[in-house]
Amino acid sequence: MTERCTSEPRYLRVRRYGSALFHNAIVGAFDSLPKGVRERLDHVDFLCGVDPVWAGLTSIETSDDGRSLRDIAYCDYLYTQKHLPADRRRTTIVLPTECAANVWTIRHELGHALHEILGWFGPVKPITEYARTNAYEAFAEAFCAWREPGYCGRDLRSADSRADALFATLS
Ligand SMILES: [Zn+2]
Repeated sequence: MTERCTSEPRYLRVRRYGSALFHNAIVGAFDSLPKGVRERLDHVDFLCGVDPVWAGLTSIETSDDGRSLRDIAYCDYLYTQKHLPADRRRTTIVLPTECAANVWTIRHELGHALHEILGWFGPVKPITEYARTNAYEAFAEAFCAWREPGYCGRDLRSADSRADALFATLS
């Protein structure tokens, strides 16, 4: 069951993040987003300071590019949680260590969550070198570039006007 703090804005859930560092970074990332986007991401969960494989959240142990999911920040999508009962599946942003407790990392991961929520919108043109990794990273990086004009030195509106327009309609 999700508790809500009635004195806070609607999107601020009462959650236990393990440390103020995680809490402040997550709140900072949400605060950097327009209301319409925040509301779409409101149901996303966070797993902080815990190995997600040990916790049983994910059924896979490595990312598409071969990195261990035990110690990198990532978004655990619903389709990777088929080993869990349906009522326990929840899009979850995993922040295994405090290295990931910063607004920039969390905003990138929220971009991944939004991608899933929007039904895998695409294709999105890669705006950074990392965005060339795959369609998932292209979307998350475009999302970051949209929120932070100086993110990669390129303007999303001119790089991918379709993605820019999508984000604008969500605001
Ligand atoms: Zn990513």
